[in-house]
Amino acid sequence: MRQPFVAGNWKLNGSKQLIKNLLEAILDGSKTIKNAEIAVFSPFLYIQQVAELLEGSSIAYGSQNVSEYNAGAYTGEVSAAMLKEFSCKYAIVGHSERRAIYGESDQQVAQKFIMAQHLGIRPILCVGELLEERESGNTEKVVARQLDAVISAAGINAIEAAVIAYEPVWAIGTGKTATPQQAQEVHAFIRERLSRSNDAVATNVRILYGGSVKPNNATELFAQTDIDGGLIGGASLDAADFLAICQAAN
Ligand code: PEP
Repeated sequence: MRQPFVAGNWKLNGSKQLIKNLLEAILDGSKTIKNAEIAVFSPFLYIQQVAELLEGSSIAYGSQNVSEYNAGAYTGEVSAAMLKEFSCKYAIVGHSERRAIYGESDQQVAQKFIMAQHLGIRPILCVGELLEERESGNTEKVVARQLDAVISAAGINAIEAAVIAYEPVWAIGTGKTATPQQAQEVHAFIRERLSRSNDAVATNVRILYGGSVKPNNATELFAQTDIDGGLIGGASLDAADFLAICQAAN
């Protein structure tokens, strides 16, 4: 049985005050949410504050990225060991903004995945196609390539304790959501791809959908057989919207 999961990716947003207000509202409004797991992803600098605000609650937290290196001359990087010191449960790896803006390759993403997992941090591996890749009929090819890079570097068994997020790039921050059918098709494809290596991993791994999830489309998306919740960008900065999405997963 896969527990529904809603993860809020705050991206490059927030301040001490905003995070305090947002988390207090989320903590208050999430008391009735018992069946879905909730996690939030602040910029690195605020992880300690998030940890303090969430202490004693069931809401998890993590990082939006992690270095593929352990330590050394890598200016500006944050290692998995550092995140572990701050008790991060999850680390997002391979978000499409990291791949597109910072040029992260499939191999780099796989190394980040391995680094996080090595330290006991669960990676949330983002995969997804660009609009032109969908329009040219290459969605499955792209998603398979992104997935296979991690499977061949980390091994299929490493996937089970991780989370996969299918995020069509054309749906992120654009207000264009994949239809529940479009999303379900790719989620089913991901499970089928994993089942070629290991059936149990394919059945047990949670696969989130991400891309303009809002309170008005969450219920239908989360009702799909292979969709186990969402990775939420914009709507996670609004406590009422985020809580409504968590309720839909609940
Ligand atoms: C994301 O950043 O992962 C995301 C899905 O963003 P949004 O919900 O704003 O489309």
